[in-house]
Amino acid sequence: MDRDGDRKIEAFREILSGARSGVAFTGAGISTGSGIPDFRSPGSLWAKNPPVDFDVFLSSAEMRREAWRRKFAMDDATRGASPNAAHRAVARLVAEGAFSAVVTQNIDGLHEASGVPPERLIELHGAGSYAACLDCRTRHELADVRAAFEATGEPPACRECGGLLKSATISFGQAMPAEAMERADAAARAADVFLVLGSSLVVYPAAALPLIAKKSGAALVIANREATELDRFADLVLRGDLVELLAPYAGSS
Ligand code: NAD
Ligand code: ZN
Repeated sequence: MDRDGDRKIEAFREILSGARSGVAFTGAGISTGSGIPDFRSPGSLWAKNPPVDFDVFLSSAEMRREAWRRKFAMDDATRGASPNAAHRAVARLVAEGAFSAVVTQNIDGLHEASGVPPERLIELHGAGSYAACLDCRTRHELADVRAAFEATGEPPACRECGGLLKSATISFGQAMPAEAMERADAAARAADVFLVLGSSLVVYPAAALPLIAKKSGAALVIANREATELDRFADLVLRGDLVELLAPYAGSS
């Protein structure tokens, strides 16, 4: 590492050691070290199984079948993924009281698996671990949906109201969950450090949060493998691999 790199690592250490109400804001890049591909990297499984936009899902039975085929294919490809050192470092910053919230765009459940308590975790794009009825929001387990889908070739309807079932994630074109957005906004406003980890910061409204935090007085730190849209507003920009950057903070487990 060159001298500039050393200086940045030291500045990062100092910022983290002073944090009392830090917020980690994570994207797909924090989970690539666990074997879950992000959208944009070349050869990504997502290229073969792109997410279906919400309006298309609503309007086409064929595309609903296709969405479920892709969902199960992605689940099979990423089954068994576990938190990496970057997730563990974030969980530790929360456990030690330096960080008060983790806001994630991910749907992979790895922050929860790393031990971040639910009241500290804000999942802006929902969860990929179960399905929900689009009308009455009743939860349905994926194993049941899959068994019915594989038996009949059709996704089952909601057992309560007959409505459409979809993975409990927020699709492109679908409204953001109001409660999660409110919690994320409040956390950003109260943050003394706002740490972006592995997000290209192009997906709005989530990508507005770093600027809300910055305007409210937080130190903005952006750690990502490539440049982001908001680097010019950051107090510190760290380029490189998140597992490497955060391993020193991950503890022994
Ligand atoms: P993105 O794909 O736009 O950006 C990921 C960023 O992380 C990229 O800029 C990439 O250079 C960087 N990156 C990848 N691996 C890295 C590493 N090891 N170290 C440092 N940087 C690394 O993802 P996004 O901004 O999070 O947004 C896209 C959307 O995709 C989100 O809405 C999210 O819901 C969804 N998504 C989720 C998952 C998941 O749950 N794991 C995976 C793919 C996509
Ligand atoms: Zn229903």
